[in-house]
Amino acid sequence: MSALILDGKVVAARVRERVAQGVTELRGLGVVPGLAVVLVGEDPASAIYVRGKTKAAAECGVEVFDHKLPASTGEDELLALVRGLNHDKQVDGILVQLPLPKQIDPHLVLLTISPEKDVDGFHPENIGLLSMGRPRYIACTPKGCMTLLAEGKTELRGARAIVIGRSNIVGKPMAMLLQAADATVTVAHSKTRDLAEETRRADVVVAAIGRSEMVRGDWIKEGATVIDVGMNRGEDGKLRGDVEFAAARERARAITPVPGGVGPMTIAMLLDNTLESARRRAARGE
Ligand code: NDP
Repeated sequence: MSALILDGKVVAARVRERVAQGVTELRGLGVVPGLAVVLVGEDPASAIYVRGKTKAAAECGVEVFDHKLPASTGEDELLALVRGLNHDKQVDGILVQLPLPKQIDPHLVLLTISPEKDVDGFHPENIGLLSMGRPRYIACTPKGCMTLLAEGKTELRGARAIVIGRSNIVGKPMAMLLQAADATVTVAHSKTRDLAEETRRADVVVAAIGRSEMVRGDWIKEGATVIDVGMNRGEDGKLRGDVEFAAARERARAITPVPGGVGPMTIAMLLDNTLESARRRAARGE
């Protein structure tokens, strides 16, 4: 069996088109969705991510407010900027690109972003709402994974799912979403005793580890759906996932490629969350 390839580029393009339509409707009502993008320092990878997000937002008609600050920026200065953005009526979403320079506590920055404008879905209030089954903003990467699972018509109710990785931004919210969709979820991490065995039992595998092709093809149960979040740059410059793709696709029912799977979905979901925030503003008549 060769798996159905869940093409994130195609699905993300569809999401972005839907967002663009929503933005046009809001603009017709006099509400221009706005996204503030804050980049501190010159980390090359961060600069690339920010450029991608800015470009995609502009293409959807979202107004982007770019804030590029030097690496020497102090914590107080960044917090003051964030507070200003919290009160700026033109700004529906605030994104502070991580990682931040050492002198700035990322947790403090996260806590300072208004939960109403936290389109990344990282604020404890939004994580808490998600864990209570009342989500407001869902973190973009897990939300993108859920969209791809739906695209692959994956049966989640009663399914055995494994999420490998327990980070706050991917693994944990992913596990909550799968649980809310009635899957029986195992969360694995670096101390998990027999990862291969745990994975072999799963109908749905989400790998968010950050280790190139660590999940071997023969760990995948026949007919499972595989979502590969990993993005690992090899010495040859190539991007690889956390799953041994070539072998896994022979056993899986559906699988995401890397690149071109989860990656494009993350940006599309950021725009979707920004539109959602702007719609809330429109409903409040602001
Ligand atoms: P983190 O480094 O924050 O978390 C990695 C997780 O993997 C940890 O929970 C860790 O366990 C676990 N882990 C590490 N080694 C092993 C192992 N040998 N066996 C089992 N579990 C292990 O990473 P992120 O969640 O931020 O990202 C994960 C991957 O996803 C990365 O490749 C990243 O680049 C990619 N990513 C992709 C995105 C996209 O848009 N496609 C967006 C965000 C991330 P422990 O908790 O015990 O340390």
